[in-house]
Amino acid sequence: MLTLKNVTKSYQVGDFMQNALNGVSLSFRKQEFVAILGPSGSGKTTLLNMVGGLDRYDSGDLIIEGKSTLHFDDNDWDAYRNHAVGFIFQSYNLITHTSVLANVELGMTLSGLSHEDRTARALEVLEGVGLKDHVYKKPNQLSGGQMQRVAIARAIANNPDIVMADEPTGAIDSETSAQIMALIQEIAKNKLVIMVTHDEALAHKYADRVVKLKDGEVIEDSNPYSDAQEVQGSLLLKKTSMAFKQALKLSFNNLRTKKFRTLITAFAGSIGIIGVAMVLALANGLNNEIDDLERSTLAQFPLQIDPFPIDIEAAQGNFGPPGPQMDDGGFVEFPEAREVYPFEATVSENQHINVITQDYLSFLDTLDPDLYFEINAEYDVRMPLLLREAESQFRGVDQGGGGVDFEPTVTSEEFLSQSYDVIDGRLPDNANELLLVVDQANRLNIRFFEALGLSFEVESYSFDTLYDLELYTFLPNDYYLENADTGRFIPSGDYESIVQAGDGIPLRIVGVARESADSLAGFIDQGIKYHPDLEELYIDAAKTSDIALAQAESSISVITGRELSEQQKVGVLRQLGYDDTPTQILIYPVDFNAKTEIRNALDAYNEPLPDDEQIIYTDLAALVTDLTGDLINGVSYVLIAFSSISLLVSSIMIGIITYVSVLERTKEIGILRSLGARKKDVSRVFNAETTIIGFTAGLIGVGIAFILTFPLNLLIESLVDGIDGLAQLSFLAAISLVLISVILTFVAGLIPSRIAANKHPVEALRVE
Ligand code: ADP
Ligand code: MG
Repeated sequence: MLTLKNVTKSYQVGDFMQNALNGVSLSFRKQEFVAILGPSGSGKTTLLNMVGGLDRYDSGDLIIEGKSTLHFDDNDWDAYRNHAVGFIFQSYNLITHTSVLANVELGMTLSGLSHEDRTARALEVLEGVGLKDHVYKKPNQLSGGQMQRVAIARAIANNPDIVMADEPTGAIDSETSAQIMALIQEIAKNKLVIMVTHDEALAHKYADRVVKLKDGEVIEDSNPYSDAQEVQGSLLLKKTSMAFKQALKLSFNNLRTKKFRTLITAFAGSIGIIGVAMVLALANGLNNEIDDLERSTLAQFPLQIDPFPIDIEAAQGNFGPPGPQMDDGGFVEFPEAREVYPFEATVSENQHINVITQDYLSFLDTLDPDLYFEINAEYDVRMPLLLREAESQFRGVDQGGGGVDFEPTVTSEEFLSQSYDVIDGRLPDNANELLLVVDQANRLNIRFFEALGLSFEVESYSFDTLYDLELYTFLPNDYYLENADTGRFIPSGDYESIVQAGDGIPLRIVGVARESADSLAGFIDQGIKYHPDLEELYIDAAKTSDIALAQAESSISVITGRELSEQQKVGVLRQLGYDDTPTQILIYPVDFNAKTEIRNALDAYNEPLPDDEQIIYTDLAALVTDLTGDLINGVSYVLIAFSSISLLVSSIMIGIITYVSVLERTKEIGILRSLGARKKDVSRVFNAETTIIGFTAGLIGVGIAFILTFPLNLLIESLVDGIDGLAQLSFLAAISLVLISVILTFVAGLIPSRIAANKHPVEALRVE
């Protein structure tokens, strides 16, 4: 059955070659009980390991069932050990962290037997060796004799043809030895049993044949055999393989015996995960918060259609020559000369100009009115504002930057009351009524009083004083007189007669208000607001007024007599009300969804148009939230990068711990290999271990991070008003992090697990 042909084996010890086997030629029968006798160091174990496929010979040949092993590869040897050979060692070599039953089953697991089959078989052989009542114990709960019985049961469980026993009774008292020998003798009835011993008496008492070794050579053989007449059998070996599930189970059992350490390892591994999880939770919460903000409050901020829409990219003005040039960031260099340079600030070539057309206005009319509170068109028209201080005594009121801000209120009732908090009186509801808008402390700039001819030395004015102001505006044909000689138009000056003739438009302040806290109009200036009807009425009249018609014909200002550029002329015509296309349109959506719908409609309008005819809107709210969102994402990336470093460090640590575990479990590696486990199977065991640790680390990390979000949220709540439950760990993030943890630790464990797989089985078994 087995034939050794001139087999040699030597070990390199330092510079010295130690010959362990010196050309051994031996043949074994299919069934016999061979004892190998010899003094210590004579090469018995080496011979056994060689024959059992645990170690490789240097030269010669081992012939198994007539098949030379010269060309055996690793898989062949693994399969041979698993199916054909059972080992019994002096030191039992049981895996201490699994049950007796699991130990016996292990070899069969490697040969791919089903769970039921191997349990049944393991119980059968354990009963055979008299351990029926101990199958669920751990090996270290047994006596030496019992442990050796477990080893015997394991050796024969897979029903091998050959059983190798290396000093099986070497560590057992003589009485128990007898029982063990009887067991082995029983096994030898239908198998080849090769037993190494240095006990002559034992050898002669039980064995059929005694082979004596000395200095690596056979010096005596009590019953030699030649296999010349043996039929060339065919050796059919099924390849072994361990299921990953089995590897997991083995690792899990091992980790269970080291609960504390595993937990500490996993905890250390989880720290990086906690960091990343917390950052993700916060970023997630902040982004949700911004979304909410955009949805609730900011949603109703208007979509702005400005004449020159904000283009962040091309924000820098483009200034033409002559004089020092500027680049995007400012000056190229400071001018040295003691000179100042006139220049014309032109609009950047890239600056888009929104030209609002009648077509666009009619398009806006088609928008579903349920989508918006109002569409507010702003015109550039300048109405004169005059204060009647006494009879025939009128004062022109400075407007704009220099005085009274004279502008329309917003149009819709609902929107009006939302925008202003009325302090006194009421909101204007016709063309003759005005609203005085003050700041939060009821203040107005001194310029306001100056413009109205009121002393600002006075500490305060009663509302009634202001209600009593006799304000007027006049339509252009009433207000302007044409000088027949020059063709220029000047204010008539004789306002009293116009008023007496009933042609003035009297205006009265009917209420005082300030901008409300939840105003959506945004930045309402203090000053005097008129009802939109007034503007409509004025523009209607202005369009066909003499001054407007005259100006439309001329490139010279009909008021100042100065030359006007084309651009300036357009501006003047707008101020005169001749050109009544709005300069700016504000659309106030009712909510976030409405805003989205409106945006889609505006985009659809632009879609077929060439670039320069498109009307570009600005969504200030989205701009703000986009920027904030980008900022938060940026900060998150940085924080995640930092936490990732700790994640990496902890992975490396897990790699090191796995390596320590490899060192610790070297013996187990040897056992697995002796049972026919492939290198791949061994690395699987350790990969399974890191997978478990990684998974646990991930769970712990995510769990702790989840728990930490509660105190964190409490802290944030106490610091920031109105924000609760900010940090939210999303389910997806949690799952991903556990996965990342598994992957990282798995990768970190690859090197140690490879080291484990490459351990020499014999060396591994020798380790205590
Ligand atoms: P036995 O089992 O008969 O006591 P071994 O087969 O274990 O003897 O050893 C035979 C010889 O080979 C001894 O001299 C031993 O020191 C040497 N030897 C065995 N294994 C190794 C090894 N791994 N490295 C170096 N020398 C070894
Ligand atoms: Mg030995």
